[in-house]
Amino acid sequence: MPDVRIILVRPQHPGNIGACARAMKNMGVKRLVLVAPQRFPAEEAVARAAGADDILAAAEIVEDVPTAVAECVFVAATSARDRTIPLPRQDARAAAATLCGQAQLGPVGLLFGAERTGLTNEEVDFAHTLVQIPVDPLFASLNLAAAVQILCYEIRCAIQAGPAAAPEHRPASQEAFNLFLGHLEKTITDIGFLNEKHPRKLMRRLTRLFRRALPDDNELQILRGILNAVEKPHPPRKLSPRDPHNT
Ligand code: SAH
Repeated sequence: MPDVRIILVRPQHPGNIGACARAMKNMGVKRLVLVAPQRFPAEEAVARAAGADDILAAAEIVEDVPTAVAECVFVAATSARDRTIPLPRQDARAAAATLCGQAQLGPVGLLFGAERTGLTNEEVDFAHTLVQIPVDPLFASLNLAAAVQILCYEIRCAIQAGPAAAPEHRPASQEAFNLFLGHLEKTITDIGFLNEKHPRKLMRRLTRLFRRALPDDNELQILRGILNAVEKPHPPRKLSPRDPHNT
């Protein structure tokens, strides 16, 4: 089984956490991560896990999404709703195949939102792709554990279909990516490009642009080199009289 982490973000009902653990165990998916659960551990969770107590006992509890995905080489966010800022979209089947492929490089994460509110835009910022389970658009919101069940089933099917295509390159770590984003934000603030009235919107667009590109370490180093050069420009190169550009 590839290292796929089912990450429940701020789940409200312990019963749902238990039902998710059961849905995972049925499909052989083992790693459950809980981001700031409202109530956990709880008897209701154990009752609804119906024998998947080992998944609950091993569940990792963390404070926020960045911590939950820190080790992940690839992250998918599930959503019942359309989001305004474009991110590659996949249905559950395609997403499961992508996750199994990327899992050849390291842990991968699948984010699920809270029952009432779903994932915030800030939480979706950590994802490389948005996953929508095709449902009747007139009644699109599934119960949390039902959504986990469908994704885990698709992951099982993807594994059984045979080895996934290996990704073309290894993306940089989340830590390196976040350092780059911080550097980018600082540079565009310093040069007066970041519009202080809409800083978040611009950074969100840039975050998603670079997440889609899945840059590797070398590419991030080049980008950071450019940012360094923007902040501390070297004196312009002196052109020789014979240089064709020297007109
Ligand atoms: N009211 C929330 C929905 C919450 S349902 C909203 O409008 O966003 C709880 C979680 O189940 C969602 O955050 C998502 O992770 C998952 N989910 C529910 N329906 C889904 C669907 N059709 N496709 C993908 N994920 C879905």
